Amino acid sequence: MSEENKNINDFDFDLICAYFSQFERQGPGSPEVTIKALSFIDNLKPESKIVDIGSGTGGQTMILAQNAPGHITAIDLFPKFIDQLNIQAAKLHLQDRVKGIAGSMENLPFQEEELDLIWSQGAIYNIGFEKGLKEWNKFLKTGGYLAVTEASWFTEKRPKEIQDYWDNAYTEIDTIPNKVAQLQKAGYIPVAIFTLPETCWTDNYYVPQSKVIEDFLKKHKGNPTAEGFIDEIKKEIRFYSQYKEYYGYVFYIGKKI
Ligand code: SAH
Repeated sequence: MSEENKNINDFDFDLICAYFSQFERQGPGSPEVTIKALSFIDNLKPESKIVDIGSGTGGQTMILAQNAPGHITAIDLFPKFIDQLNIQAAKLHLQDRVKGIAGSMENLPFQEEELDLIWSQGAIYNIGFEKGLKEWNKFLKTGGYLAVTEASWFTEKRPKEIQDYWDNAYTEIDTIPNKVAQLQKAGYIPVAIFTLPETCWTDNYYVPQSKVIEDFLKKHKGNPTAEGFIDEIKKEIRFYSQYKEYYGYVFYIGKKI
């Protein structure tokens, strides 16, 4: 990578990071769905080891800590998200049980069979669903759980426009039965599968963004990277409202065999 490209990428990262760090969550979700997913997990004790991968600023990490026993390590690629997460944990007096560290989901700093629970909301797509399921499996104890959300098709067929959009954004998007088969093949018993309600996308994800988009554009006026980035967000919001019956996020919860 040339130095020029590297700088452009660093700049993109900073910009995207600045944009997303304004929000409590960086993906569709809600406290209710985190608690619902947690209700299927029955192996946790105060000494349990939990990892929240691609934690962002920790919206779901705090809900996990408030509703489950155990020690949570939250990992995200962006150090700024992790700084915010650690500040929030201290504010909520959770700092003894929640520790954020900067790092990559492709190179996790754990030992084999060390973990009781792997959590990842709206982030496994960064490594790819199948690869993540397979690679992370070794870190779980036998009988340990994995709970992740993943973009999934709700129907066998869908309009070409939304198919093309997702083919370009994330080729691994697939139907729920296909994803469940991948979960099983990767060494987990499929324990529970449920779709996230629409409000996880609208009220909790797109509405907060819609409120700040114009200010963000004003602040970065004339910056083509910022303008292109916001155009993409606007397109994503428009597509969700038009095609939401065809796709969404699904919680996949598996138990390591
Ligand atoms: N779980 C949070 C954030 C989801 S957004 C929520 O639901 O609100 C996806 C997150 O994955 C971002 O915070 C991004 O920085 C992080 N991420 C992307 N690639 C990553 C990688 N290779 N390793 C760790 N985190 C990564």
